[in-house]
Amino acid sequence: MRASYLDYNATAPLRPEARHAVIAALAQPGNASSVHGFGRAARQAVEAARESVAALAGARPEQVVFTGGGTEANNMALRAARRGVVASAGEHDSVLGACASGSAIGACAPVIAPVDSSGVVDLEQLARLLDGEAPPDVVAVMLANNETGVIQPVAEAARIAHGRGAVLHCDAVQAAGKIPLDLTALGADSMSLSAHKLGGPQGTGALILRAGHEIEPLLRGGGQERNRRAGTENVAAIAGFGAAARAASRDLDTFMELAAQRDDLERQVLALAPEARVHGAAAPRLPNTSCFGVPGLAAETLVMALDLSGVAVGAGSACSSGKAASSHVLRAMGIGEARVAEAIRISLGWASGEEDIAYFMAAWQTCLNRNPSVKRAAV
Ligand code: PLP
Repeated sequence: MRASYLDYNATAPLRPEARHAVIAALAQPGNASSVHGFGRAARQAVEAARESVAALAGARPEQVVFTGGGTEANNMALRAARRGVVASAGEHDSVLGACASGSAIGACAPVIAPVDSSGVVDLEQLARLLDGEAPPDVVAVMLANNETGVIQPVAEAARIAHGRGAVLHCDAVQAAGKIPLDLTALGADSMSLSAHKLGGPQGTGALILRAGHEIEPLLRGGGQERNRRAGTENVAAIAGFGAAARAASRDLDTFMELAAQRDDLERQVLALAPEARVHGAAAPRLPNTSCFGVPGLAAETLVMALDLSGVAVGAGSACSSGKAASSHVLRAMGIGEARVAEAIRISLGWASGEEDIAYFMAAWQTCLNRNPSVKRAAV
């Protein structure tokens, strides 16, 4: 059976460059802290990866702290909070959950900055939440949303935060390798990346820190990562991350061209089902992401039916539990439960092609035709 993988925002297939780097590193012994030749070779692999990740993020190598993924990087960044966190409503669970349960300030739920109907954070409301007595001192605004691909005005949010004595953390996990990234231009004090979203191995990522912005370590013990993250470095995964970051930087222009394929897919969907609704379409979006639903076509059954045809797409935000949880991202945009339950996510990437979209369209149309209650275009 033909397979069509269109779930890159959940995880991207491992790039060949990354696979090669992981295997090469695994074939060598060597703790990056050892002084002998094997250790120095491991150190070299880690530092080469650090340079590549820094280049992708518009930062310097010493600003990169390798972590066990995007979730850990977000948890670490939010430890900067002393008085509390304001988070935009569409943040990933690894941001919302981190400030709810374990920042340096102890357990406290984040204050939520609302988003408008296209999913963009309301900057006036954000500013208002930072005024007043003893306001939160960390603002979390992601660069691009994992479900809708909507790009947030991070630089403006950073100006608002800084003007009120707060720091800004930016979860750039979904943006990295998909749109240009520049820590300084964004004005962010910290930024999270995850290797597996850009074709590197799962379970590794990075927190990028603005020069001078230091954060209490989440993991204590050894002095690795300049005392910012204890524990023997995962040399193979980090080497794979570096190779993926290099490839993603190289391919950035090509990646941006995926927008034309995505727009074409949405045109075809709307031509077949004019009542379809594309979520976040009015805002700037990542070039690879489309989140849409058709009234009467439940996402849960659609995803399963597509899977039987070998087509992999996402539904809602259910990436951690394995079952469809109602999307807080779409609900925050004012979308009703019924429409939320119909939303599926197509996300393209480095190895997807027009033939994958054509295959998806054929399988999706079959599902549409099987469902007589759905309004279709008159033919
Ligand atoms: N932030 C965003 C926006 C994400 O989409 C994800 C993963 O889905 C994460 C953070 C968590 O990254 P990781 O899977 O590396 O823990």
